[in-house]
Amino acid sequence: MTTFSARYECFAGCDGVHFGLDEVVYKCPNGELLDVVHDMDALRQRSGAEWRTLFDERAGARSWPDRSGVWGKREWVLPEIDDSEILCLGEGMSHLMPAQRLATDLGLDNLWIKQCGHSHTGSFKDLGMTVLVSQVNRMRRRGVPILAVGCASTGDTSAALAAYCALADIPSVVFLPANKISVAQLVQPIANGSLVLSLDTDFDGCMRLIQEVTARHPIYLANSMNSLRLEGQKTVAIEIVQQLGWEVPEWVIVPGGNLGNVYALGKGFAMMKDLGVIDRLPRIVVAQAHNANPLYRAYKNGWDTFAPIQAKTTLASAIQIGSPVSIHRAIRALEAHDGVVEEATEGELMEACARADRAGLFTCPHTGVALAALEKLRDGGTIGRADRVVVVSTAHGLKFTGSKVGYHDGSLPGIDGTRRNPPTPLPATVEAVVGALAQRYPLADG
Ligand SMILES: *Cc1c(COP(=O)(O)O)cnc(C)c1O
Ligand SMILES: [Zn+2]
Repeated sequence: MTTFSARYECFAGCDGVHFGLDEVVYKCPNGELLDVVHDMDALRQRSGAEWRTLFDERAGARSWPDRSGVWGKREWVLPEIDDSEILCLGEGMSHLMPAQRLATDLGLDNLWIKQCGHSHTGSFKDLGMTVLVSQVNRMRRRGVPILAVGCASTGDTSAALAAYCALADIPSVVFLPANKISVAQLVQPIANGSLVLSLDTDFDGCMRLIQEVTARHPIYLANSMNSLRLEGQKTVAIEIVQQLGWEVPEWVIVPGGNLGNVYALGKGFAMMKDLGVIDRLPRIVVAQAHNANPLYRAYKNGWDTFAPIQAKTTLASAIQIGSPVSIHRAIRALEAHDGVVEEATEGELMEACARADRAGLFTCPHTGVALAALEKLRDGGTIGRADRVVVVSTAHGLKFTGSKVGYHDGSLPGIDGTRRNPPTPLPATVEAVVGALAQRYPLADG
């Protein structure tokens, strides 16, 4: 039987730098990020068709963790982990929703929404966190001294970390920017028993703090600079083509903040192509909020210069990041996938959410950023009518009801929604109800 393996190597390609996955290490000695590199020769001993068949069988399996979208691809993720070490909350295999009505509205033949927010903690962060916490579980069982696992977060990473750690009985600590995340996000790590630190700074400030603390104390760093998470997140690329019957769409659009996810997405596609599972790559679009758009600015410069910025407040709070940790990873992925970066203002992203909601979705603001980008690229002709498009919806709309309520009651500053639909207050009489009905629908008499 073939044995599969993976190890850390330097992302920037420093010669001879490698570490085992059971080591506590986040960067190469020269300060560059690491990448999990698989023994591709071993994986290549199975044909693309054999991998497709195996993944399809597992997707239909009755039992966990095979049915998990992440662990059903375990040879490509963490090949050496034992089943007993895996912590699984049913992540992955989220719905790939054909959004026909929205497609028609936008002038597209085919549009799918990959509903990554339909997951245990309501965001795609579960895909990566199941891998990281399972690996920590394995390391602790092998005697590696890890007291707790910690992360800085714009709300969704902390929720995922807290849930998997609670499942594993591993202590966790989360560094959150005070008053910058939604109530639904904040209550998740509280309920799951994390040490919740509400810090008087922004995400970038939380990120600086946790890096200092984890460098000095046995707290394991769970941010996406830790490349373990990206191994789980890359499975979304595999799922998308698997759910399309192993067909590759022309475009995949993803909202980006810290930019680990776009790298993971690209890595998934590249790995499938390398292993003969697919024969071409899709083009990738990263969508950013105008108020937090350092990647967009670098793209507009032709990748000439990248400068971190001070991110301004955006309703897409999970991507309010001015100094993305994975900037170089993201640029590499975009270059390999003939990538495009687009941006959306606050008004554009909320209007895109409302438009999609009218067509049967219930979108979070980050998905709104991606949909607004789609709208612009379609209107500008970059994306053609016949192009097949997949939009990665990163979180569940129910985690971000504040912005949606504000849109519909007209209380968002500077945003005058064209699709407002506030509730109608009425006395409880038949006349009043019929009157309200008649205002909206053609009521027949009688
Ligand atoms: C984390 C997150 C993102 C951004 O992912 P990055 O890897 O930081 O680019 C987008 N949307 C939501 C809802 C998120 O939680
Ligand atoms: Zn290096």
